[in-house]
Amino acid sequence: MPELPEVELVVQGLAQLLKGRSIRSGALYREKLAPGVSPQKFERTFHQRDIIAITRRGKHILFELSGGKTLITHLRMSGTFQVLQPRHENPKFTHAEFILDNDDRLVFSDQRHFGYMNIVESDELGHAPELNKLAPEPFSSDFSRPYLAKVLKSSRRKIKEFLLDQTKVCGLGNIYASEALYLSRVHPLKPSCEISTIKANRLHASIIKVLSDSLDFGAGMEIDPLNLDSRYFGGDYEGEWYVYDREGLPCRRCEAPIRRIIQGSRSSYFCSRCQRK
Ligand SMILES: [Zn+2]
Repeated sequence: MPELPEVELVVQGLAQLLKGRSIRSGALYREKLAPGVSPQKFERTFHQRDIIAITRRGKHILFELSGGKTLITHLRMSGTFQVLQPRHENPKFTHAEFILDNDDRLVFSDQRHFGYMNIVESDELGHAPELNKLAPEPFSSDFSRPYLAKVLKSSRRKIKEFLLDQTKVCGLGNIYASEALYLSRVHPLKPSCEISTIKANRLHASIIKVLSDSLDFGAGMEIDPLNLDSRYFGGDYEGEWYVYDREGLPCRRCEAPIRRIIQGSRSSYFCSRCQRK
């Protein structure tokens, strides 16, 4: 599943590719993609709309349109946007399609069918149920050391699971949660409320570091309209993780073998020497 840096890069790619464009028409081919919107309403909403801005909140992609509407999208496991020229055919699992004013098409395809869309009034975006409980953006001043210390103290959950809760910390997924815990030397099974202030501060810095390092890495990559989502996974970055997907390989700090455990049906990777319980 894409995490915050990957979604941010998709947003930047889309914003660049669709700058100044308008949508002539839109079609919803798989109704369950947008459970709150009928295909007819979907069509009406995207009839002759300008794309004003493409932004992100958490892992949601937001398309602000003329007429006061915003499309909220979540890629989930395998949702993919592509900007296709007329000569390109739609991919196999095309669930929504938008015809642009230059005859190109913005297409959303999703092999695993977990993707999500909704349409809301732009001036009520802050109240949208998809967004209104999300924790502060990690790069905003609201995501401060005191904020993180406070939410950690209020939870008995294991820290790795805590970090995946988007209402507590926004934007981390399975990869960056493991990476941030490794950098701050916190064991993934540690109860959140038992993390010391020093380690909480270290964790705060590590969360920002793993996300911004990843964004910096992606910033230099070329934008491919046919492959907006695959600049990380399957790309060069996989060899660079500290612990993620490195079970049995030596810790980059102490050379002890990296361990993998299952937490909430997902793998956590850590070094049992550097990250004591
Ligand atoms: Zn180690």
